[in-house]
Amino acid sequence: PYSRVLEIHKENLSPVQTAYFQKPLLLHQGHMEWLFDSEGNRYLDFFSGIVTVSVGHCHPKVTAVAQKQMDRLWHTSSVFFHPSMHEYADKLSALLPEPLKVIFLVNSGSEANDLAMMMARAYSNHTDIISFRGAYHGCSPYTLGLTNVGIYKTQLPSGMGCQSTMCPDIFRGPWGGSYCRDSPVQTVRKCSCSPGPNGQGGRVECHPHITDCDLCMFAADCCQAKEQYIEQFKETLNTSVAKSIAGFFAEPIQGVNGVVQYPKEFLKEAFALVRERGGVCIADEVQTGFGRLGSHFWGFQSHDVLPDIVTMAKGIGNGFPMAAVVTTPEIAKSLAKCLHHFSTFGGNPLACAIGSAVLEVIKEENLQKNSQEVGTYMLLKFAKLRDEFDIIGDVRGKGLMMGIEMVQDKMSRQPLPKTEVNQIHEDCKDMGLLVGRGGNFSQTFRIAPPMCITKLEVDFAFEVFRAALIQHME
Ligand code: PMP
Repeated sequence: PYSRVLEIHKENLSPVQTAYFQKPLLLHQGHMEWLFDSEGNRYLDFFSGIVTVSVGHCHPKVTAVAQKQMDRLWHTSSVFFHPSMHEYADKLSALLPEPLKVIFLVNSGSEANDLAMMMARAYSNHTDIISFRGAYHGCSPYTLGLTNVGIYKTQLPSGMGCQSTMCPDIFRGPWGGSYCRDSPVQTVRKCSCSPGPNGQGGRVECHPHITDCDLCMFAADCCQAKEQYIEQFKETLNTSVAKSIAGFFAEPIQGVNGVVQYPKEFLKEAFALVRERGGVCIADEVQTGFGRLGSHFWGFQSHDVLPDIVTMAKGIGNGFPMAAVVTTPEIAKSLAKCLHHFSTFGGNPLACAIGSAVLEVIKEENLQKNSQEVGTYMLLKFAKLRDEFDIIGDVRGKGLMMGIEMVQDKMSRQPLPKTEVNQIHEDCKDMGLLVGRGGNFSQTFRIAPPMCITKLEVDFAFEVFRAALIQHME
């Protein structure tokens, strides 16, 4: 019974494993974009188990492939060959541009980023790593030093995490700013198309052509944001301690930070500055890869950059634990020279068979195209709520990755208090819609449904979300 589940959770599971909602959901079953709880209620899944269920819960083709592989072979470890690993490596490498052809299979996003960090250091022979404020790259001791958002900012005692004494060589580039006044780069959002004194004149009026704007919904260059970001980035690169740059990590769109986008062309210039100093550039595609952003298969492609290392997880296995790091032959060789990297489960037959099936489904069902079409429809539709509700500061994103940032009002741009955001979140759930949360103050709703979502379901989600906002205002 549910009460026993709560008891076990309290007594036997770590208190860091917090759940959404006052009365946490006990989910029993999933089918494509729908989830079902223990009482048979159904929920439209607009968060995909944290941007992970890429092609749909228990997708029949993926399930059938997994079952077949389970009957044949589960595990060998990478010291033995098995066909599903080679088949998968062949398929995945075909989706990446030259010279990104060498694949390391691991089990989670954190592990992938740890490995990428080691590669960057081995190849460059430098030590320092740069990540953004607001970044999320994982929770392992190495990646915790890269992560810098909300509750994930570590407060570990000295010596226990990278942000303290273990890795003092991690620096932060400019803030991936949100709409709220929580950024040292205030002027980024103070452009002519910011809302006026009475909250009117949102930026959507200024740039209504979402589909024409490849990087983001708003032409960020009208805010002169890029120059400010670059100036800050240079400052970071020039600090006396950050002279030996090994690598630079960037999510093509910051996910956990509340779907935060960079100004157009910013990443391109940042990559060039890092390379001038002998560092390598790493795209963390854990959330943005596999067609979620619609216009391209990988998020880095929408910035017109070519990373030296790409890390991926989450959507790669549609919920099955697997992850990968893809790099160039040269970087791969430099790592092999200084360390023998090993993972017991990385490249596991079951994971690889599932990974292959996921790639096939994305192709057969045109899911990248669906992300583009339904994602654009969704952004345009939800953007209208900004004009209707003063507590919506921003609606932004690309493809099926959208953030709705909640504020006290458009004038103050202070984050809506957490208790109020919690209530709206809970109300959506009670009406059958599951959405995610993010942002430095947990003030942003994050939307990232499985890529098989339809426009009709977007309409349903919109009505539920709007009803929850109306309920909140009453
Ligand atoms: N990178 C990004 C961009 C992520 O969003 C996450 C997970 N939220 C990770 C890395 C870490 O992945 P994992 O939880 O699989 O270790």
